Amino acid sequence: MSSAATDRRVIIFALGGTIAMSASPTGGVAPALSAEQLIAAIPGLADNDIAVEVVDFRQMPGASLKITDITALADAIRQRLTEEIDGAVVTQGTDTIEETAYLLDLLHTAPQPVVVTGAMRNPTLAGADGPANLLAAIQTAVHPRSRGQGCLVVLGDEIHAARRVRKTHTTSPATFQSPNGGPLGYIVEGRPRLLNQLPRRAAVPAAPGDDIRVAIITMALGDDGTTLQAVGDHVDGIVVAGLGAGHVPAQVVPLLEALADKIPVVLASRTGGGSTLQTTYGFPGSERDLISRGLIPAGYLDPVKARILLLTLLAANCDRSAITAAFGAEGGYRDTETWPWPTDPDKDN
Ligand code: ASP
Repeated sequence: MSSAATDRRVIIFALGGTIAMSASPTGGVAPALSAEQLIAAIPGLADNDIAVEVVDFRQMPGASLKITDITALADAIRQRLTEEIDGAVVTQGTDTIEETAYLLDLLHTAPQPVVVTGAMRNPTLAGADGPANLLAAIQTAVHPRSRGQGCLVVLGDEIHAARRVRKTHTTSPATFQSPNGGPLGYIVEGRPRLLNQLPRRAAVPAAPGDDIRVAIITMALGDDGTTLQAVGDHVDGIVVAGLGAGHVPAQVVPLLEALADKIPVVLASRTGGGSTLQTTYGFPGSERDLISRGLIPAGYLDPVKARILLLTLLAANCDRSAITAAFGAEGGYRDTETWPWPTDPDKDN
């Protein structure tokens, strides 16, 4: 723990990613820097008078993180986030932040925030964004107004809710956006300003293992269901990334109905913004048709978020009605009471 003359404390878990990369002997850049090195690279951290504890948790690219790396991280956060610590920060590869942050959000019940960050420009490049993002994440994690907000994602001086944030660009430092609702707030002059708050938190009772398989199948022009057919018997659940507001070609409907009879099939949209519909379109393969055949609408949850939620619901052995209720609540199209477990598990919320 550094800078003891302060009562603001943060614990940082480093998982690798671009923020921690340096030149690799075999070419390109690869994860190499420790959490201490990330902290040492932040100009002005000492002026903030924040005590920082670090944990080197993993050293890998975001693409190779597993579900169980994140459930182990959630356990470690639970154990290390004692009363005296104001919040946790996670540094990792940006490629999977939209999934890891949401899984952490669903598993985290303490009042202190967990703030996930990373970088788009690695430390060898001009204008590397890692130090600024990490400082902003630390400032967010120790701020009193971040308490009770669950897991947040901070990059580019924006604060996003884990359940809404998406990576929208391959290289831009402004890649992280929340198409549904916008950012919760911003970092201004070193202080987080939260302009919006989430209506509630949602925690799940069980952590998924790597053995639960949920496939994301994206629908496309002229899709004849060959991929769905090939995958259907080998997975525990499916998320359909549907066309528009949740549509599929008519020829895929019988197959989807048969699959929905055996395993949960969730209907999301491939568009990247907006909610799936429920009552508007009536043609074969429309959202009305698919819902009447047993598919579960994802609402505002995009396909990768819907997959994370379904993994956790399968881990909790939820039946179809609990899965439908959970998606109704998290997808934002039913009353909060439908969330199957206590929504505000900590009195601090
Ligand atoms: N491009 C990624 C990043 O920004 C690489 C990764 O996810 O590890 O960190």
